[in-house]
Amino acid sequence: MAEMKDEQILADVPDSPREECGVFGIYADGEDVARLAYFGVFGLQHRGQESAGIAVSDGSRIRMFKDMGLVNQVFDETVLRDLQGHIAIGHNRYSTTGSSLLQNAQPVICDSPQFGTIAIGHNGNLINTSDLRAELEAEGEQFESTSDTEVIARLIARSSESTIEKAVEEMMHKALGAYSLVVLTADKLLGVRDPYGIRPLCLGRLNTEHYILSSESCALGLVGGRFMREVEPGEIIVIDKSGLREIQALPTARHALCVFEFIYFARPDSLMYHKSLHLARRRMGHELAREHPVRGAHNVIPVPDTGTPAAIGFAEAARTAYGEGIIKNRYIHRTFIEPDQRMRDLGVRMKFTPLRETLAGKRIVMVEDSIVRGTTTGPTVKMLRDAGASEVHVRISSPPIKYPCFYGIDMAKQKELIAAQKSVEEIREHIGATSLGYLSIQGLVRAIGLKRDKFCLACFDGKYPIEIPDDVKVSKFAFEPKGAKADESKAGLLSRRKPKQPTTP
Ligand code: SF4
Repeated sequence: MAEMKDEQILADVPDSPREECGVFGIYADGEDVARLAYFGVFGLQHRGQESAGIAVSDGSRIRMFKDMGLVNQVFDETVLRDLQGHIAIGHNRYSTTGSSLLQNAQPVICDSPQFGTIAIGHNGNLINTSDLRAELEAEGEQFESTSDTEVIARLIARSSESTIEKAVEEMMHKALGAYSLVVLTADKLLGVRDPYGIRPLCLGRLNTEHYILSSESCALGLVGGRFMREVEPGEIIVIDKSGLREIQALPTARHALCVFEFIYFARPDSLMYHKSLHLARRRMGHELAREHPVRGAHNVIPVPDTGTPAAIGFAEAARTAYGEGIIKNRYIHRTFIEPDQRMRDLGVRMKFTPLRETLAGKRIVMVEDSIVRGTTTGPTVKMLRDAGASEVHVRISSPPIKYPCFYGIDMAKQKELIAAQKSVEEIREHIGATSLGYLSIQGLVRAIGLKRDKFCLACFDGKYPIEIPDDVKVSKFAFEPKGAKADESKAGLLSRRKPKQPTTP
């Protein structure tokens, strides 16, 4: 077994893909919309923990507050009381494009000669940011941040179209990549989704005449709303005093929802494509147990919390006892203080501690949602062995991640992805597991119960639904794994053609 240092799990060094952002919007006359937006982004906290912000319009003026930190650290009663109005958007962020600075926190505000002040919250990542930014700078635009959201905001703000919805449509013809947006003007709320629907966005209702937009349906119930439907890829939803309008601005290119929403990102109580994510994750556990059974196991345990539904499913299908074997400190993600040497010497673990009662002398199946770099799975396996587990069989409820993401998920460069460098057996040896099994792509798709072409699976198969420009590719493809050339060629990755944008019907 490769030697792993305890420090690797003393601090919070997550080894799962990280979601970029959550967005929320509400139009509700007579309601305290800032407070509702607060609860909305609070319900989406799992999508981003670095900064949070809310912008509110009272019909003539937009006020905004944003800061670094968790939603409940950024806002208090005094701040919310100052955000008066009837339309609000909210955002929480985990940075991918642009570093983690307040200037990159959202919503982004921009003044437009045509539409007044506009505020935008964005979940996703554009793949032609540098081209668009260079074009705008050549035309005299000066940027205040390094984020692609400001590029979107400035494209909309400088438009000479007669309405904000037409300006957004114009932006959609230029922007390539993943974007689910909430857009606020003095008198309108817009929801916008890219033509591939890579990042989620749904529409809900509050009472009979008020509307909500949210990255996930779990936040709708939190403010007393109910789910209506998902915003379609390429669609603009416009909400104003006359009600709701739907504009199919670009044709749906193909549905390519990020499959990691199903595996890990979204909250298990959310619905996507009308499917319960909790049940889909349990079925991933069923499939995993069928594909990689473990004979004579005593207990199936999850790596909490995201491995839990798949571990329950594995235990159900394998008819093996399910138990807690790892206790997670729920507050670890805000720990910036490094443990001192004495704590390191004592092997104090801040994120996970083992439950010896479940582990000692037992053959354990440990279920985890994914392995990215392979930095935390090994120390976790070692922790179980140190607590007395006689065997540790690791089961992963996603296929091996071999390709980087360009659509807004932080999961390292290709050379850092352990499955791009090592075989499954080499990874097993590296993490010190008794055995290792990954869910297959077919098993994953079967578990979700929808067709494979409804999803982006590019980090598993290298087939990117939106062609990645060469200059962007270079940033993450430092080397090619064996056999990757054929896959990439099929996926158009080696092509020098400019990516195609769907056209208006
Ligand atoms: S490449 Fe992977 S993480 Fe990125 S959008 Fe596609 S499935 Fe999701």
